[in-house]
Amino acid sequence: MRITLQDFTKRFDGASVIDRLNLTIADGEMLALLGPSGCGKTTTLLSISGIHRIDGGAILFDEHDVAALPAQKRNVGVVFQNYALYPHMTAFENIAFPLQVRGVGSAETTRRVKDIARLTHIEPYLTRRPGQLSGGQQQRVALARALVRQPDVLLLDEPLANLDTKLRLEMRSEIRRIQRETGITAILVTHDQVEAMSMCDRIAIMDKGAILQTAAPAEMYRAPASRFVAGFLGSPPIVFVDGVAGGDGTLACDGGLTLPLPSRLKGLAAGRKISLGVRPEHFGTSGDARLSGTIGLVEPQGRETLFDVRLRGDVVLRSVQPARDDLRGGETVSWPLDVENLLAFDAATGAAL
Ligand code: ATP
Repeated sequence: MRITLQDFTKRFDGASVIDRLNLTIADGEMLALLGPSGCGKTTTLLSISGIHRIDGGAILFDEHDVAALPAQKRNVGVVFQNYALYPHMTAFENIAFPLQVRGVGSAETTRRVKDIARLTHIEPYLTRRPGQLSGGQQQRVALARALVRQPDVLLLDEPLANLDTKLRLEMRSEIRRIQRETGITAILVTHDQVEAMSMCDRIAIMDKGAILQTAAPAEMYRAPASRFVAGFLGSPPIVFVDGVAGGDGTLACDGGLTLPLPSRLKGLAAGRKISLGVRPEHFGTSGDARLSGTIGLVEPQGRETLFDVRLRGDVVLRSVQPARDDLRGGETVSWPLDVENLLAFDAATGAAL
C-alpha cells in the first residue's frame, strides 16, 4: 500500500501545526519521521491512522483518499510507546481482541493469533498477562496485536522509547525483520537519529510542521540539505565552524584560525559567510591538510576513542579514532583533516553549499 500525503494540513484551536505537507511512502517501504520534540511527528501519524481529523489536503492509501474515513475503516495497525495492552487480558486475548471486535470466528482467531505469535517470537508467553512479561515481550505483543488483522499500514510511535539500551537494540532489528517479512508499509516516529538510520529505508526530517529533507539514511548523512539536518544526524554530532571565505580556497575563522575549503568551493566569493561542518571522522585519521591543537577531553568507548581538540581561536573539533590510549589531555597533536568531505552551509540561510 502506497501512502501519499497531499497538502496535508492540521490545526489545533485555530493554530496551524502542519501546513500543506507533502510526502509519499512507497509500497513496502519503512520511513522514519524524525525531528525534535513538538515538530508534528505524532500529529502526522495520528492523522494517517484516522485518530485526528485533518483540516486540509488529502491522505491517499494507493489512490483512495481516506481522509474522511474513521480510524476503524482504515485498516491501519498502530503501536504506541506505552504499548496500551489490556492488563487484565492474557497476551493471547490482547492479540485476539481486534479480531473478536470484528466477529472473526474462534478457530480462525486462534489460527491467526498463533501465526502472528510465531512471527513475533512470543509463542511461549501467550497465556501470560502483560504484568508477567518483560518490556520487550510486551512490545512484541503490541506489535502482534497491531499486525493480526493484516493491516495495510503499520504505524509506530516511538515504539522503543520505554526499553533499556540492550532491548532497544534487539527490538530495532526485530521490528525491521517483521516489517520485511510481512512486506507492510510502515512509518516510524522517532526523535532518535540512530533508530531512524538503522531501521528505515528513508528518513523524512521534520521541523516546525514541515519536512526539510527526505532521503535514504546514507544519502542524508553524506549530503544533508541544510545545517539543521546535518546537525541532527551523526553521533557524536558534527561541529560547525563559522568563518568568512577568503576567495583563495580558505576560510578565515575567529581568533586567526584558517581552514582549507573543499575544492568544489574554491570559487566561493571572498567575504561570503559560511559555516563549515566537520564530522568526527573527518579529523584525525586521513586527509590532505593538517591541523594542530591541544587535546582536551579523551573518551574511551571500547572500540573507539573520542577526542576533543582545541585549535586556534578556541575552536574545538571532535575526532573519533580506533581505540588508542597513548594520548592524554593537554598533549599537542597535528592531525590530518579530510578536506574534500567537509560539509559547508550558507551561514545566514543554513542551506548546503
Ligand atoms: P514529541 O516528539 O514530543 O512527541 P511531536 O513531533 O510528535 O513531538 P506533536 O505531538 O505532533 O509533536 O505536536 C506538534 C504540535 O502540536 C505541538 O506544538 C503540540 O503542542 C501541538 N499539539 C499536539 N496535539 C495537540 C492537541 N491535541 N491539542 C493542541 N495542541 C496539540
